[in-house]
Amino acid sequence: MSFAGIGYDSHRLAKGRRLILGGVEIPGGELGLEGHSDADVLTHAVIDALLGAAGLGDIGEHFPDTDERYRDAESIELLEDVVGMVGAAGLRIVNVDCTVVMERPKLGPHREEIRSLLARVLGLDENLLNVKATTGEGIGFVGRGEGVAALAIASLEEVSAGEQAGNGPTKGSGRAR
Ligand code: MG
Repeated sequence: MSFAGIGYDSHRLAKGRRLILGGVEIPGGELGLEGHSDADVLTHAVIDALLGAAGLGDIGEHFPDTDERYRDAESIELLEDVVGMVGAAGLRIVNVDCTVVMERPKLGPHREEIRSLLARVLGLDENLLNVKATTGEGIGFVGRGEGVAALAIASLEEVSAGEQAGNGPTKGSGRAR
């Protein structure tokens, strides 16, 4: 069996904040993303795609923005927790694809660094973790430079019983389904 999950997130751009996407700080901009955590909109979308595919709810349930423990949290560390939850559910990540929707700066120069970091955290070969970028074409909150959005899709598969017994790459501690 395999399972697909979708993730979407958006955050507002604000002065005096860092712009962190997929765990990588994008330098040079005057604006960054505002939120309770580091507001890493891309990592939040990936987290929701994984939770969705695993049938484990959403990011707000696991890491509520009313919880002081997650103030200024590094979202990439939350993603590490979610990768652990996926493994504990007896599932393995097959691939993740994502899109950042941002007017500026251009994501291109940072795309490989983001891809490499996310692939490492997810335990995937880089060809199984794809990062795309598009703009708002001047339209809507993205186009006006008010915020950044991100979408992600994740595919998971069940880890076989033999692999769960300890020979496989994922340490499954039990099946959720
Ligand atoms: Mg978010």
